[in-house]
Parts: sequence; structure tokens; C-alpha cells
Amino acid sequence: MKWLLSRIVMAGALATLVISVHAQTRPVQNFDTSAGQVKITPIYHATLLIQAGGKNIYVDPAKPASFTGLPPADLILVTDIHGDHVDQDQSSIKTISKAGTEIWAPAAVQKFVTTAAVISNGQTKKWDKWTIEAVPMYNMTRGPEAGKYFHDKGRGNGYVLAYGGQRFYISGDTEAIPEMKALKNIDVAFVCMNLPYTMPAEEAADAVKAFHPKIVIPYHYRGQPSGDVNAFKQKLEGTGIEVRLLEWYPKAS
Ligand code: ZN
Repeated sequence: MKWLLSRIVMAGALATLVISVHAQTRPVQNFDTSAGQVKITPIYHATLLIQAGGKNIYVDPAKPASFTGLPPADLILVTDIHGDHVDQDQSSIKTISKAGTEIWAPAAVQKFVTTAAVISNGQTKKWDKWTIEAVPMYNMTRGPEAGKYFHDKGRGNGYVLAYGGQRFYISGDTEAIPEMKALKNIDVAFVCMNLPYTMPAEEAADAVKAFHPKIVIPYHYRGQPSGDVNAFKQKLEGTGIEVRLLEWYPKAS
């Protein structure tokens, strides 16, 4: 009995250790707001977790992101239909869902994530202490063939999330569209950059200069040469915009 008990205690301690080591490898970002701290955890590529006021919001939970050691979702925001933002079989959504988890997504995603509530470009909704606005994300020039775009205007959503006077922008998959350049009072911006689907680092830097967030965090840059995010950072030197380079592609553990 004693032996069994000590084995159980050891297993428990080991599990805690594994979870804490895993959690430590994620470069969690903390932001002070008038309503308390907002904590943002990069998970993988376009997948991230936003925590505030005891609530957990996931953006684009999709394979191969690992959710080990992370809490269940109160709200899930999806930007677009592609597999790096949502699983066709919803396996990541199922992994992090609990009774009462809400899902907000554009109509094109709701076709297969049928439990989602539709939110479209230009709509703003309140949720807990958050105000969440769906904003445009689309291609103006790039597509799989002439006359077609990887992301059609109006199909997907970027999001601007406001909490305690701080505004967080998640770009989704987009080029340097006028709606991005016209954003106002963004404190923290997550901006995509990869070709051929979205935009190169230089174009992203130009767009960021235009709306001038206080902090910008490049994300969604899978497949790009490793120097790209550094080139992005260099282009923003001297602008007063803080560029934070985080690890979005952890090795599988
Ligand atoms: Zn994508």
C-alpha cells in the first residue's frame, strides 16, 4: 500500500514537472490594463491563447498545435477556413472545449463548425469584459492563379480585442490592406507574414508603420527564411514601435 502510494505521489510530481517544463517553454506575454492583466501565450503558427479575468480565449486552434497543460476554452475565435486556422474535423476545437465554450467564426467557417456563432467583418460584440470587433483580412494581389485570391475579401476575420483600455489586433491572413493601415490606437499587434499566402516582411513592416502599434509581434511566418522576422524588425528600427520576436514553432515534445 505504502509502495503504491509513493508511486502515485511520484507519478503526480512527474506529471506536474512535465506540465511546468512544457509551460515554461512557451514565451508568455503579460500586458497591464485598467481591468487587470492580459496574458497572451503563443502556441503555434497562428494559434494563441489570451487570458484575462479568469477567462480563456483561444484564437485559431488548429493542428499541429499542442494544448498540453493549457486550460479549456471559454471562447474560441476562428479567422478563416484554412487548415492552419481550423481543423476540418474540429479536433483541436474538441480538445480545448468544455460545456459552455462559445465559438465565434465567419460564415464560411460556420458551414462546417456548425456550433459557431457567425461574426462578420465590421461587427462588434461584447463578451465578458472584452469588446471584440471582426475586421477585414484578404489578398489584394496574391492567389493560386490569375484572378483568384488565397483569401477573398469578406470571407475571413481579423480581430481587434479591447480589454481594460488596451487594444489587441490579430491580423489573420492578409496583405497590407487599407483597413489595416487605417487601424487606430492599437497597443499590441500580431501580424502575419509568409509567401505566397499573405505578404512578405517588408510589406508587413510598411503596414505596421502606417498604423503604428506600440508593440508588434510577428506570427504566422511558417516556411519563410529565418532571417525574415529579423528583416521586419530592422525595417521598424527608429520608429518607436517595439518588435517582439517569439518562438511560434516549438519542436514537438
Ligand atoms: Zn494561414
